[in-house]
Amino acid sequence: MRESMPHAEAQGQRRQTKIPVWRQTAARLGKLCVEVLYPRRCPACDAPLAIGQELCEDCSGKLVIVTPPFCFGCGKHLEDATQEFCHDCLAKIHFFDAGRGLYDYRSVAESMYRFKYHRRSEYAEFYGRKIAAHLGEVIRGWDAQALIPVPVHKERLKKRGYNQAQCLAEVIGRELSIPVESGLLVRAKKTVPMKLLDREQRIKNLKSAFITRDNSVKLKSIIVVDDIYTTGSTIDACAAVLKAAGVEKVFFITLAIGRG
Ligand SMILES: [Zn+2]
Ligand SMILES: [Zn+2]
Repeated sequence: MRESMPHAEAQGQRRQTKIPVWRQTAARLGKLCVEVLYPRRCPACDAPLAIGQELCEDCSGKLVIVTPPFCFGCGKHLEDATQEFCHDCLAKIHFFDAGRGLYDYRSVAESMYRFKYHRRSEYAEFYGRKIAAHLGEVIRGWDAQALIPVPVHKERLKKRGYNQAQCLAEVIGRELSIPVESGLLVRAKKTVPMKLLDREQRIKNLKSAFITRDNSVKLKSIIVVDDIYTTGSTIDACAAVLKAAGVEKVFFITLAIGRG
């Protein structure tokens, strides 16, 4: 009888029995950034890594860390050491108090694209650790009670499977022992991808995009975590609602930052 089993049926049976339990469980836990614990690829070029390697040999030195002097507002590198603020921060009053981004955006742009859109949530382990190592002192100095990842809209989260900002915040929080409060800030509106918009459009796009779950937030000082800082519109929109809900100080940390 076995030999006479129709081909399609045999294949179907094989499919049913061959999906291992661990795989089904891993898929279910995708949202919990389970992959974060097992980095397997070079975050800079995506080549497979040897055990214990954090970047492949070709990529050491490829990721450029932003150097001083820093803008007192957004932490961008300043060309002129006599300046205190970058062009952007001079032109605009921010809702956040200060912040820092670790890498020059151009050096991590491709990696960030994979991190965000190509299911490379595992990069968060490398990047989160680097942020903690290089910016840990600055972060501790802010004396914040919580890290708040910039939320994504629930439909987008479903499609993408994870929020890269949350994956980053989880690793930074673990490394520096700061709690991550991811349910506090909610993305109420689906927004157009920011990279397609100019500054004015970005601000309009983000109007009422975020809300806090409670009207009153009992945290004095928090750090908003995101992947990228460009003009600051996203961080400002988050900071505005958090301050309206009673938070006194809002700082930010991003993996990458653009030039001033
Ligand atoms: Zn590499
Ligand atoms: Zn600035």
